[in-house]
Amino acid sequence: MTKVDVIIVGQGIAGSALAVELDRIGKRVLVVDDGRVGSSSIVAGGYYHPLSFRALRMAWKAKQLISFAESFYSELEILLEKNFLNRHRLTRVFSTVEEQNNWAVKSELLDYENVLIDEPPVWLECSKVNARYGSGQVKLAGRLEVVKYLDAVSNWIRNKHEMRQGRVELSDVLVDDKKVKWQDVEASYCILCNGHQFVKTQPFSYLKDNLTKGEMLEIRSEDLGVKSILNAGVTVFPTGQDLYRVSATYDPRDLSATITEKAASILMEKLLSIGEFSYEVVNQEYGIRPTIPDRKPIIGLHPSKSALGIFNGMGSKGVVIAPFFARQFVHHLYSGVPLDPEVSIARYSKWFDPEIHNN
Ligand SMILES: Cc1cc2nc3c(=O)[nH]c(=O)nc-3n(C[C@H](O)[C@H](O)[C@H](O)COP(=O)(O)OP(=O)(O)OC[C@H]3O[C@@H](n4cnc5c(N)ncnc54)[C@H](O)[C@@H]3O)c2cc1C
Repeated sequence: MTKVDVIIVGQGIAGSALAVELDRIGKRVLVVDDGRVGSSSIVAGGYYHPLSFRALRMAWKAKQLISFAESFYSELEILLEKNFLNRHRLTRVFSTVEEQNNWAVKSELLDYENVLIDEPPVWLECSKVNARYGSGQVKLAGRLEVVKYLDAVSNWIRNKHEMRQGRVELSDVLVDDKKVKWQDVEASYCILCNGHQFVKTQPFSYLKDNLTKGEMLEIRSEDLGVKSILNAGVTVFPTGQDLYRVSATYDPRDLSATITEKAASILMEKLLSIGEFSYEVVNQEYGIRPTIPDRKPIIGLHPSKSALGIFNGMGSKGVVIAPFFARQFVHHLYSGVPLDPEVSIARYSKWFDPEIHNN
């Protein structure tokens, strides 16, 4: 029998951060991933910034989450001797005069001092982007190269802990009050980091989801000329050799496991609304974001099977949410520190019926 402290199911952005934080306090993990089938992380652009553009205000816990995430990934870059986090300024192309005015006002406020710049980047002049209502920049922004990060963490887990490729069905996991057993492995906890599939997993099926499918395009353009992260309803990023990522759609209704023409035309329509340039679409991908109704993460131990836990609900901001709350969850598991009530699974205990959900 192999003994570890925690079995982690899924090695996306969530499972990776949890493995790193458990290692930090000396715990041993087994991570099992089914080969990133249906993984949202591998499709993610990896961008982060602190704003909700529509209302032009700070998003939930934005500065705190970003500051934590930047330190988390930077420290890991040193440990793993790989580079996957890059700070980039984000250029926002305004869609109305009101937005332009609002930006000018906000950028004078103390709270936005190190966040907003009320002027366009120099490169915009030489690009095909026509910022009719002007543009501004976000200083506190960047991009995690997600696949590079996941690959680096996966290699590190393989060397220092244990990594297996395969699918964990919770029906195959024996659970009692103090431990779990799966195949030849015994652990104190089994934590689900299985992305959008969490509500299909008994005994967590009492939770509700509000999944959103997202699609992205990769285009080639010789004359678009975007040099950093650009947000104009869609986010555009140059990946080199005239290639650009254009993302993303948000569709809560069509969760089909396929790319769609509808999403491709939505993305291109938004992009073409800011300028005329030549392009060819070279790739399209989709992913399902693990989103729950209140759009906050869902973290904690099962109400009656306390060796089973969940670390999920990263929604559209997994890059910055996962590191901060992985540390909080680990402190909760091993030092009894209470979870933030806004993310704790306890807020949904009203949906749990032991008669129905314990099998
Ligand atoms: C188009 C698109 C663009 C996005 N852009 C951004 C962005 O720019 N910035 C940002 O922060 N977020 C972005 N997101 C959101 C981001 O992708 C998610 O927040 C994040 O990836 C969720 O990570 P996760 O680890 O919870 O889930 P996932 O990435 O889905 O990982 C779950 C893993 O578990 C595995 N798995 C599932 N079930 C099992 C099982 N039973 N046994 C074994 N393995 C299992 C899966 O194969 C997968 O590898 C985007 C999402 C989409 C769709």
